[in-house]
Amino acid sequence: MGGADDRFDIVVVGAGPVGLSFAASLAQSQLKVAVVEQNSIDTLANPPFDGREIALTHASIRILREIGAWDAIPASDKSPLHGARVLNGSSPFALRFDPPSGSGEPLGVLVPNCRIRDALFKTIHLQNHARLLCGRSVVDATTSQTGAVVTLSDGVQLNAKLLVAADSRLSATRGLLGIGADINRLGYSMLICRVRHERAHHQVAIEWFDHHQTIAMLPLAEGVSSLLLTLCSNEADRLLAFSDHLFLRELTNRCRGRLGKMTLASKRHAYPLVTTWAHKFQAPSAALIGDAAIGMHPVTAHGFNIGISSQKQLAYGILTACRDGREIADPDMLHGYERWLRLSAAPLFHGTNIVVGLYSSEHPAARLARHVGLRFAQHVPFMRHGISAMLRR
Ligand SMILES: Cc1cc2nc3c(=O)[nH]c(=O)nc-3n(C[C@H](O)[C@H](O)[C@H](O)COP(=O)(O)OP(=O)(O)OC[C@H]3O[C@@H](n4cnc5c(N)ncnc54)[C@H](O)[C@@H]3O)c2cc1C
Repeated sequence: MGGADDRFDIVVVGAGPVGLSFAASLAQSQLKVAVVEQNSIDTLANPPFDGREIALTHASIRILREIGAWDAIPASDKSPLHGARVLNGSSPFALRFDPPSGSGEPLGVLVPNCRIRDALFKTIHLQNHARLLCGRSVVDATTSQTGAVVTLSDGVQLNAKLLVAADSRLSATRGLLGIGADINRLGYSMLICRVRHERAHHQVAIEWFDHHQTIAMLPLAEGVSSLLLTLCSNEADRLLAFSDHLFLRELTNRCRGRLGKMTLASKRHAYPLVTTWAHKFQAPSAALIGDAAIGMHPVTAHGFNIGISSQKQLAYGILTACRDGREIADPDMLHGYERWLRLSAAPLFHGTNIVVGLYSSEHPAARLARHVGLRFAQHVPFMRHGISAMLRR
């Protein structure tokens, strides 16, 4: 028999940025919340740099502000994005995304993933509401209409009215709940590092689709960019094994001098690219949020943006149910959450996958289609403005 210490209203699996945001969104409630995380408390308190620079939309910044985490990110770690250019092969033509003239607002703000995690951890710590159970993973979970039982790797069992999985795109909890997912291992990896460079970036990002590679350059501090190189996984592994000197020479060649002379400003990180779409985003007494529900391809920089809005929507449903005297795992509320997430994320998820397919193919028809596509988009202002507006939502 479990004691009162093992009984919660909500157990969240995963203290990634989405799991922590969700716990912070519930801080004003009377709900008893636990967050289980396999990493140690020290790693959560001092999250290491992982290479990712997250391009936050204005909507995500608003949510981080509402839960009290935005101001915990140092100003020096917030890099405004004043524009983006998409290039195709050696063509000098660039599709431009700019904020509306005179708005003075950036398209979005780049923040290192580790700084977001750090700010959220500090917020949770300050709120002193959710209980963090670190250094243990979830190894079993069963749910029914009446609640969830979660087993941790140290044998402890937790009881909850609602189980929320936020344990990454390869979520084990999703599997334990019997929810399938379309998991697409793309055979490509993204190599990321920071570089110092000679030429000014003017806070404009560049996405350059070239033959057999995609290079993104994200503007950070003056003279510093994050460089993201997408290659087939074998080629990425080859480059990972290079010495710093050889790696830098390879990068310089591949960038064809776009940033001028470069030096490495961080370690290299590699991410094999996997996209996921869960078949359901809820089950009796359970819900999926963040990458556990939808794992986006990073090329359109929207995974966390969708994840943070998913947690906000679920938290809103739960708080409304509490206020109306309904159960926090009310099936109608969970179905409503699932409908909302499906409708709001499907166009971006499938649109991104189409772009990735088109831009990673070397077939002559695909090359022609991207050439024509970029010019078409440039001359259809509502398309460009629509994408810019989506970023600035
Ligand atoms: C290279 C790259 C660049 C990106 N750039 C952007 C961008 O510009 N903009 C954007 O919006 N998104 C971006 N993303 C996506 C973004 O990083 C993810 O969407 C986001 O990290 C998802 O957060 P999450 O909390 O759902 O999952 P995760 O960050 O994966 O966190 C999951 C947590 O669960 C824990 N966990 C896992 N299994 C268990 C278990 N069994 N028990 C307990 N704990 C467990 C893990 O340790 C981890 O802490 C990028 C992703 C990549 C790879």
